[in-house]
Formats: sequence, C-alpha cells, structure tokens
Amino acid sequence: TLSDRLSATFKNLRGKGRLSEADIDATAREIRIALLEADVALPVVKDFVAAVKERARGEEVSQALNPAQQVVKIVNEELIEILGGETRRLRYAKTGPTVIMLAGLQGAGKTTLAAKLALWLKDQGKAPLLVACDLQRPNAVQQLQVNGEKVGVPVFAPEPGNGTGDPVSVAKASIEEAKRKLHDVVIVDTAGRLGVDAEMMAQAAGIRDAVQPDEVLFVVDAMIGQDALTTAQAFLDGVGYDGVVLTKLDGDARGGAALSIRQVTGRPVMFASTGEKLTDFDVFHPDRMASRILDMGDVLTLIEQAEKAFDQEEALRAAEKLTGGDFTLDDFLAQMQQLKKLGSMTSILKMLPGMGQIRDQIENFDEREIDRVEAIIRSMTPAERANPKIIDGSRRSRIAKGSGRTVSDVNGLVDRFFEARKMMMQMARGGGMPGMPGMPG
Ligand code: GDP
Ligand code: MG
Repeated sequence: TLSDRLSATFKNLRGKGRLSEADIDATAREIRIALLEADVALPVVKDFVAAVKERARGEEVSQALNPAQQVVKIVNEELIEILGGETRRLRYAKTGPTVIMLAGLQGAGKTTLAAKLALWLKDQGKAPLLVACDLQRPNAVQQLQVNGEKVGVPVFAPEPGNGTGDPVSVAKASIEEAKRKLHDVVIVDTAGRLGVDAEMMAQAAGIRDAVQPDEVLFVVDAMIGQDALTTAQAFLDGVGYDGVVLTKLDGDARGGAALSIRQVTGRPVMFASTGEKLTDFDVFHPDRMASRILDMGDVLTLIEQAEKAFDQEEALRAAEKLTGGDFTLDDFLAQMQQLKKLGSMTSILKMLPGMGQIRDQIENFDEREIDRVEAIIRSMTPAERANPKIIDGSRRSRIAKGSGRTVSDVNGLVDRFFEARKMMMQMARGGGMPGMPGMPG
C-alpha cells in the first residue's frame, strides 16, 4: 500500500527552514502512483502533483510532522480544496417546479438515483414528481415505477395521451402534470446507451430543450475508472450539465474519477450514491473522497495524532515554564497585565486547539476586573506579593483601604490566586489546561 511505501520515505527529521527538494520529490513520486492507482487521469495527476510540489516548496517545516507527512498533509488539503472548492447545493427554480434532469450511460445508476434523490427531497419537505423518459430499455418505466412506489413518490410515465414512445413529449407533458398536481420538483430520468452515441445525445438534448432544466446532473459509475473522464467530456459537449453524481461508491473503486471530472470539466460533484438501497445516498463529502483517493486513512490519522501530540507537548512545556519558579502574586499580576495587553487574545486562542473553555472565559470577561485586581495587588507589600500566605486579617483590611476596595474583594482575590496556583500545579503534572489562571470563572 501507499502507507507502506511512504513509511520508507518517512525520515524522522524535524527539520528547520523549508522542506527539502529531495523530501518533496520522494513523496511526490508516491503520491503520483497513488493517484494513478485511484484512476485519476494522467494529465490531471501531472498538474496536481506539480501544484502540490509548488506549494510544498513554499511551506515552512512543521515542528510536529516529518517532511513526508507534511507533504501528504498538503496533498490531502489540496485534494479537498479541489473536490470541494465550489461544492454547491441544488438550485431551485424561483417560480414553478424545479426541474432536475439526469443524464449518463446505461447502467450508470440514473433510475436508481432518480428515486434516491426523490426520497431525499421528500424528506426535506418537497413534493417531487418522477418522470420516466427512458422509453428505450424494456422495463425501464416499470423499474422507475417500482422504485417510485418504494419511496412514495408518484411517477409520470407514458400512457395513451402522454405521448407514448416519444421521450420529449413525455418530458414536456410532465411539467404540465407537475404544475397541475402542485409538485415543486420534477426529476426526469432519461435513457442511456452502453457507449456514448450521437442519437442518445440528440435525444437527451431534445429533452433538455423541452423541459429547460434548472439542473442537469451527469450520473457516472465510479467503477468505470479512467473511462469516466472521456464519458464526462462527451456528455458535457453533447448535453451539458451543472453537476456530477458519483455512483457505486460502495464498490472498491477509489474514485479518482471525481478528481479528474472536477478538474477537467469544472463541474462539481454534488451527490454520492453508495449502494443499491434507496437510502444509500448522500451529498458529496470532499474530505471523505480525498482520503479515499489517497487510500491512506491510516497515514492521515497518524498525521492528525502527531499534530495533536505536538500541541499537548507544547502546552505542557508552557505550563512547566510557568510553574518552574514559585508562582507569586507578582506573576499573577504580570499575567493579567499581559492579558490586558493582548486585548484581542480571542483571535489568537481560536487558533490553538483545546482552548475552548479559556476562549469562553475571555470572551465573557470584564476588563475592569483586571483594573480592580491590579489596584489590590499594588496595595500589597513586596513581601506579601512574594508570599501570599502571610496576608492575614489585619493585612487584608489595610490592603482594602489602600486600594479602595472592600475586604471581601481582597479575600476573593487571594482565594482566586491560590486556586490559580493549584491549577498550575495540576497542569504541570499533565492534567491538561483547565482554564487560564487569574481569570474569573
Ligand atoms: P441506469 O441505467 O443509469 O438507469 O442505471 P440503474 O439505476 O438501472 O442502475 C444499474 C444497476 O446498478 C442496478 O442494478 C442498480 O441496482 C445498480 N446501482 C445503482 N446505483 C448503485 C450504487 O450506488 N451502488 C451499487 N452497488 N449499485 C448501484
Ligand atoms: Mg435507467
């Protein structure tokens, strides 16, 4: 597997500066093979790898990852970006029923998908109408009717008066039917051939012109591998489409077609079909597809864990530094002043993982509180600040008078200080980061 091959190129360096050209090349070679094995078309692989190498050259060496891992991470991010950069939802018509037309080769999964899509829309409160425009294959109409019944969506099919035998008339009549029966989405299933042919394209184009679809979806079987790109291009030229549906992703195809089609046609993959059951259907998830194409979920998991572990190490180191000396009220004050200076600390904290609780505290805290704390600590003697244990009752009332606060304010502060110190000790022992010392909970 790719993971095995990559581990050979994994050198456990935590380098400095930029990724080395050798590291990038070695990893890029493996990525190239992985993409080809996933049936990504060669020209697409070439462009993609070139783009990744370009980006890798500019990248700082991560402290958390070895160079090979880092290149893999870049590849994964770029894949997700390309697969999902422009993922969009279905476009609904502003007036009248929304018309969705399906096109694709025979066996691609159109008829199955029509029913899946109908069910999905129905679950969202839509009232779809299925339209049988495949009048070529024996039983095609019946297949749609059976599926329609399963999902509880009516099927408009040719019968005397509906334009028997002519898919364009059936399609046209279905729009009138949808308006009469108040359907808000019309899903038009069409015929396909085993290979691309002119007559089929002409028929699909005729249906398209008759119903003026809001969306034409190109349905393609992920199992057909490299051929997917040729077919996708032929349908783009012959009928045109707005989005792509990838079917049979429950099989063992790695789905490189998704990347090829997206890159070459510029049309986004919108839905994924993942089985013969009518509920085996979902909107397309670029991240899942990316890790499927790369086929190294384990490497990606490793990378995630390495980064997480590194963050924990960092947090621990920071905590040790804080608790290295005796934590005094002077340190406590210095920390608060730092917080005040940092002002927009939230934006920094947002970038750190596992800081949710602290972020909330900061978002909710009152800056004047820091001023009050500062006034109290400034009214203490250096000895009191260095060794807060000596602050007894009479010292507390002196400090309160000096700072213009009440004795209970002083008590509150001293309590909070001891609380913070306890917390830092826990942190240093590896208990994580429960909160920021000195912050009012
Ligand atoms: P059409 O010719 O494009 O209308 O394709 P069909 O909807 O008739 O599907 C062809 C075959 O593929 C049928 O046997 C379907 O049950 C099967 N099929 C469709 N979608 C999927 C899928 O996502 N996964 C699997 N395993 N089979 C599928
Ligand atoms: Mg069909």
